[in-house]
Parts: sequence; C-alpha cells; structure tokens
Amino acid sequence: MTTSIKKIALVTGAATGIGRAIAIRLAKDGIAIAVNYIGDSKLADEVVNEIRMFGGIAVAFEANVGVVSEIVNLFDAVIQEYGGIDIVVANAGIAKMGIPIADVTEADFDRINAVNYKGTYFVLQQAAKKVRYGGRIIQISSSSSLYPAAGLGIYAPSKAAGKVITEILAQELGHRQISVNSVFPGPTRTPLMEKEVSKEEMERIAQGMNLGRMGEPEDIAGVVAFLVSTEGAWINGQQIIANGGGRV
Ligand code: NAD
Repeated sequence: MTTSIKKIALVTGAATGIGRAIAIRLAKDGIAIAVNYIGDSKLADEVVNEIRMFGGIAVAFEANVGVVSEIVNLFDAVIQEYGGIDIVVANAGIAKMGIPIADVTEADFDRINAVNYKGTYFVLQQAAKKVRYGGRIIQISSSSSLYPAAGLGIYAPSKAAGKVITEILAQELGHRQISVNSVFPGPTRTPLMEKEVSKEEMERIAQGMNLGRMGEPEDIAGVVAFLVSTEGAWINGQQIIANGGGRV
C-alpha cells in the first residue's frame, strides 16, 4: 500500500488478540498506529514490523494502563512522536472467569479492576483531554457485561462501567465533534480466552453461537475500522454488540 497518513490512533493492549487485529486493520486503512503494550516488547515489535511490512506506520509504546502516571506519559509520548492523537481504542483488559461471587477475593477484585475499570477510566480521561477536534474514541467492553453468566462475577462487572463512561463522554465531547462508542465483543478466539477457557468449552461456546463459531479478532477489528471511518461518523454514544448473534 502507499502510505499517506490521515490519522493517528493509539490502541492499548495492542500486542495480542483483538488489540493487535485492530492495530493492523487501522494501519491498513492508512492510519498511523501507536501500539501500546505491557512487559516484554517482543510481541509488540512483531505487530510494528508486520505493519511496516505493508508500508504502514507504527511505533510501540510501553505503559501499564493500571497506573495513571503511565497513561499520562503514554499519551504525551505518542503526541511527541506523531504530533497528535485522533483515535483512541481503550482495549487493554484482563480476565478471571469461572469464579462464583462467593469465592471472589479482594486481591483478584483489585487486580482485575485496576486494568478493566480504573485503566479504562483513565485512558478514556486522557483521550477526552488529548484527542484532537473531530476524533473518535472507542471502548472495548464485553458482551458478558450485557448477558452476565455464573462465574463471571469479577470480569463482567469490571467491563460494564466502560459503557457508562462512554455515554457520558459522548455528551461531554460533542462540542469538539468527537464521537465515543463502546464495542461489545462476544467470545473471541484470543490468548485471553485460550487462558481462561478449555478447548472443549470453546467448542461448546462456538456451537451455541447463532453463526456456529467463535469470533475472530479480525471480526472486532472490522467493526472498529467502520466506527473510525468517514462512514461511521454519525454513530455516537452507542453500544455496538459484535457477537455473531449469540446471547453470550
Ligand atoms: P488479550 O489477552 O490477547 O489482549 C489483552 C491485551 O491487553 C494483552 O496484549 C495484554 O498484554 C494487554 N494488557 C493487559 N493488562 C495491561 C495493562 N495493565 N496495561 C497495558 N496493557 C495491558 O485478550 P483479548 O481477548 O484480545 O482482549 C482485548 C479486550 O477485549 C479486553 O478488554 C477484553 O476484556 C475484551 N474482550 C475479549 C473477549 C474475548 O472473548 N476474547 C470478549 C469480550 C471482550
């Protein structure tokens, strides 16, 4: 592809899974990408290299979204590198599934919420402050927060708050022509799911979906690509459920 940078997007948790697919898809659409990651840089470097292979633009930025000062530094570093930010995808998240609420420990509650609730909150706060006029903000929630099931007592509530923040921000940022939406993926084949759910359980979930399969990260990336495109401009403050039609 020939690259002419139209926009700059920061994708959190972009070294693997859904975030990785979003980063690659937006780069294919000519958007320069800030690939946020935590820990070992190897997987983030692979994403950057894959994007550069097809002529896209990407740089990796390490930051723990569970720590507000690191989020602030991340946004500042991206602005320093690219000159501004037009799109933020608050995607980073972690999971703990299969625990009845009666067995939830304070330590697990704090660990999951530090990323999924607090991390999302302050990434969206920085986005509200720093995304340029006319920008787009996307929060990656989870269909589990709309259709909660037994065993999801830490994870599903931790993903639910993003929707509320999105709806508030959509009202607060309209005067700068910034739209804010939440995407709710259903079960999607990623490292997160592979860690939390057995192969047999994944097969059972796939058979329970209307379309007879799990989601793939690219299914979600396509939705995000539409929301940040010219065609997606009139969608604002919405919950976009991308789960193949299954109520899970
Ligand atoms: P994943 O584990 O592949 O991706 C999550 C990414 O977030 C990882 O790269 C991880 O390193 C990063 N991350 C975790 N903690 C971080 C932190 N403190 N700071 C920065 N980055 C951090 O899993 P995924 O399934 O691609 O998850 C992406 C998002 O999609 C998550 O928010 C998850 O809740 C959501 N989601 C996933 C599914 C699914 O079935 N896979 C369904 C609904 C929603």
